[in-house]
Amino acid sequence: MTYLVTGAAGFIGSHLVDRLLARGEQVIGFDNFVDYYSPDRKRRNLAQAMQQPGFTLIEGDIRDPDTVAHIFTRYRPRFVAHLAAMPGPRPSIANPQLYEAVNVGGSLVILDYARRSEVENLVLASTSSVYGKTNRVPFREDDNTDRPLSPYAATKKAAEVLAYTFHSLYGIPTSVVRFFTVYGPRGRPDMTPYLFVERMVRGQPITLFNGGENLFRDYTYIDDIVSGVINALDRPHPYEIFNLGHSQPVELRRFVNLLEQITGYPAQIEIKPLPATEPPITYADTTKAGQLLDFAPRVAIEEGLARFWAWYCDEHQPQH
Ligand code: NAD
Repeated sequence: MTYLVTGAAGFIGSHLVDRLLARGEQVIGFDNFVDYYSPDRKRRNLAQAMQQPGFTLIEGDIRDPDTVAHIFTRYRPRFVAHLAAMPGPRPSIANPQLYEAVNVGGSLVILDYARRSEVENLVLASTSSVYGKTNRVPFREDDNTDRPLSPYAATKKAAEVLAYTFHSLYGIPTSVVRFFTVYGPRGRPDMTPYLFVERMVRGQPITLFNGGENLFRDYTYIDDIVSGVINALDRPHPYEIFNLGHSQPVELRRFVNLLEQITGYPAQIEIKPLPATEPPITYADTTKAGQLLDFAPRVAIEEGLARFWAWYCDEHQPQH
């Protein structure tokens, strides 16, 4: 079976590619190596995949209909995991047009060619950011998502809505998966824990909004997220939205203490007020994903951070 993974060189995409290849699938990875963070890092993410005969890398932009048409006609992927996006709520404020063009316009191109080639199942990556801060916790898929706090969140919500419209017009089975703060090896350098660890190792201060108190994030380990995406690919639903989160929010203050214990580096803390783009808590209700996708996160935060730290040390070893 042929799978198309957009955003294949990114943090989550590259792990998904590795897992699909490990079970013997043919995988087309599609990525434009945008310099949101180091393109070299992204190439390293794909180092294992590039050795596998089942993997084909297409470098290009999801906004470019010619490249997307070429992929669908030449390789005829039956399953699509659409992960390519401009990520991050805060950076989206400076460049909302780019976020709109990629996350909405680019998603539209992918949806359009997916329906023309009648794919068997499409999984769209969305985010806990769509819940904003007005909701009760834990967040449920049918909660109000009409008040996103950043252009990023608004564009991801718009992509969800477009995916619904394409499903209703053309019947493509579609699962939207809302990820909650994913972390682990190959983690994005603009996200915790990478951002914090890098600064702690260099003896630089880290910024903790509200001093990290009463600020909770539902940290979810990468392998658990990939299992959820694979199960969503394996089990087509007409149209469903699923939370993929650990469902055990960690207070930021405790998160930093854990990083100090695991790395052995002390954190110097700079306190700033919570920006308007950030909700005080994210917390996934995963009952639905548990029932329909057998989603069951397994990796505890202590274990996940230890694995992240091992990868970080390896990544920063002097090259010979
Ligand atoms: P990432 O930046 O590591 O991966 C995204 C990939 O998409 C990158 O490799 C990038 O080069 C590629 N890309 C960007 N614009 C593109 C374009 N125009 N054409 C082709 N490729 C393009 O980010 P990630 O953390 O792996 O996120 C993957 C998906 O998961 C995104 O849709 C993101 O919004 C979503 N998500 C991530 C998190 C998280 O905690 N990491 C949380 C919620 C949602």
